[in-house]
Formats: sequence, C-alpha cells, structure tokens
Amino acid sequence: MDSSLYVLVEDLRGEGVEKVLNRVRECGVAGITVGAVHHGSRDVTPHGLSKLTLRHDGAHFDLPDDLFAGLRLVPPAGYTDAFDGLLEACRARGLKLHGRTVFLRNGTLGAQHPDVIVRNCFGDRGYPTDLCPAHPEVRQYAVALARSVARLGVDSVVAEGLHYRPLKAERLFVPLGPMDAYLMALCFCGFCMARASDLGVDADMAREECARIVGGVLDGDPPAEGEVTRAALTAYAGPDVVSYAGARCETVTTLVSQVADAVASEGSKLVFVDPTGAVKGYRDGLPSPVLAAHDAWQLGVDPVALGDLVSSFAVLAYARDAARVANDVGAYLRSVGKGREVRAVLRPGYPDSDSAERLTAKVRGARAAGAQAIDFYAYGLASHPVLDRIPHALS
Ligand SMILES: [Zn+2]
Repeated sequence: MDSSLYVLVEDLRGEGVEKVLNRVRECGVAGITVGAVHHGSRDVTPHGLSKLTLRHDGAHFDLPDDLFAGLRLVPPAGYTDAFDGLLEACRARGLKLHGRTVFLRNGTLGAQHPDVIVRNCFGDRGYPTDLCPAHPEVRQYAVALARSVARLGVDSVVAEGLHYRPLKAERLFVPLGPMDAYLMALCFCGFCMARASDLGVDADMAREECARIVGGVLDGDPPAEGEVTRAALTAYAGPDVVSYAGARCETVTTLVSQVADAVASEGSKLVFVDPTGAVKGYRDGLPSPVLAAHDAWQLGVDPVALGDLVSSFAVLAYARDAARVANDVGAYLRSVGKGREVRAVLRPGYPDSDSAERLTAKVRGARAAGAQAIDFYAYGLASHPVLDRIPHALS
C-alpha cells in the first residue's frame, strides 16, 4: 500500500535532509510529500532546530521563466534551493517524492493584488489570503504553478487550496450561525457573478439576499440555527442563493481540469486535496455528523464531477473515531468512482490520535473502506513518540 509523510521545507533545512529522510524511512512510509509551495504560518515544531517555526508564503524552487513570463501573479520566492538534490536523495532511499502545492491561499499575493481576492456580498475584500478561483489571472497563475512543480520531477503534484474557502474572521463578537458565516464567505466578485449568470443564475438577486440576511444578523436579528445543507439554505436564503452556491462548483471543476491537464503535460499526475474533513474536524477531531464528501460542495468542490477529471484524491480525515474515518473514505470513493485512488490523510497525534492503537485502528478502517494510500500529517508538527506510532500502524 502506498503511503507518505508530509514534510515542510523549513523542517528539512532545520534538521538536514539526511537526518529527516532517514527518520522518514524509519516510519515505514513509501515517500514524502514536501511543501513545494506553501502558505505562511507560525508552528510549534517539537523536535525542530527551532521550537517555534515561522513559515512564509513562497515557492521553494526557482521559477521557470517561460511559465511566468508576462504573468502579473508570481509567487514570492521561498527557499529556492530546497529541492536541490532532494529527488536523488529520496530515490537513493527508495522513497517517492510528492510536491505539495498550496494554490490559492497566499496572503502575500493577495496583499499585493487585492483585486484578485474574494469579495463578499457587501463588497468587502477582507480576505487577502483567499485568491478567487474565478479570476482569470488566478487561473493562469494556478496553471503555471502546477507545471512548475511537475517539472521538479515529483511523482505527483498534491494540489491544496484549489477551491473556495470558508469564513475565517480573527475576531467575531456577533453570534453568526453556520449558514450566516457561509453566506458571508460567498464571493461576489465580478468574475464569480458573471460565471453564475452564464449558468442562468440570478446573481444580483443572490447577492442582495445574502446582504439582507447577513446584514440583519449583524444588526441584531437572531443567527441561523442548524448546519449548512442545501435544504436548510434554500429555506433560509432562497433558491437563488443555493443556485449561486452551486455555480461555484463549475468554477472549481473547470479550474481543476486545467490544472490537471497542465500537470499531465509535464509528465506528472495530480492529487486533488479535498480539505472538507479538515474544515469540519481541524480543531478537535470531532466533525459534525454529515460526511465530508457530502459537504464538499460548500467549498465549490464537486467530487462526482472531479472523479471524471482526476485519478487521485487526498481526503483529510481529521477525526478521532476510526469508524468515522472509514465512513468518510467510503463516501468519498462512492462519489469519485471506484476506479479512483483515495488517499486518507491522518494526523498521527493530537488532537485526532491519542494512542498507537487508535492510529492503527484508523489506518485499518481507511484500508477496509477502500483507501489505496495513507498519508500522515506532518513530520515537523508531530513529536518523536507520535512519529513512532506510524510504522506500527502501517504494519
Ligand atoms: Zn470571486
């Protein structure tokens, strides 16, 4: 069975490639998934050279001139030597090398070019980390980025952030219900509205309804109750809003199609990361009852449509419960089609796994449900005792 351990370039630099790869081999995984393009973050790194590691938005390789010439959006340069010799070092140990690529989450680019970030129903461009997947220049950027990473010679391009994102406010002292937060995160930039209109959706009406409802809650109306479902949203916000939300899937599906073609043209393959399970379980590993595959539409991700375009999917199964992991994997396989590879991405430690036995149960559950690969997240974020659970879980 295929498997990998996620690794970030700061971890490789801090501890050294040799040491990290040898430790990876001890974990018994088949390869590493390295952050070739990553977003800024501030992480506690238990066994790193630094215990608090600052990561920046950046592409960790030299950008090919031919791919970015003439493009306005160019990723900031990270540690451009990170992949020098890495492929050879992996091959020498019999390890696969996958290139994790964070596409549309890039606060540096968003701050430099605010016209390409999402715009809510009130006209606010308040999310510099969220580039809009409908913007033509963002789509060109994504294609160029995909081809660049494929050219590194990686076994696959692991595509993260290739969709819309949920509302992430740093301070929120107004009680918004899940549906209010969802409506407030919908992008109503000109490109999103034009795409919805092309599909026959009344985009102006959808925007007005969103602004009316969310504006009311901000003015003191009671927040929406209950989780986001199509039926609940229809009752709460009306059919135009639901149709508008549905149109976002076409925007994402066509973008993924372009990116998959770009990766294939460079001789590599695309793994599409669906983060819905992480959105649901990130904080505590206790996702709400609806399975991730059935909530993916909220990010514009349509697993059924993508199953025709992409051969491999990574499902972020961030849950404590082994049965839940198995159910999420099974539902995803039913959506994308049985001929597709589904990789279950597990967190081997806190907050999802409190013991080696629990991690082992989740690996077995994912396999039994049809997962063809298990990936672990992530080398630098997990302590040594937690990493030691991995070989046991895979055996
Ligand atoms: Zn938009």
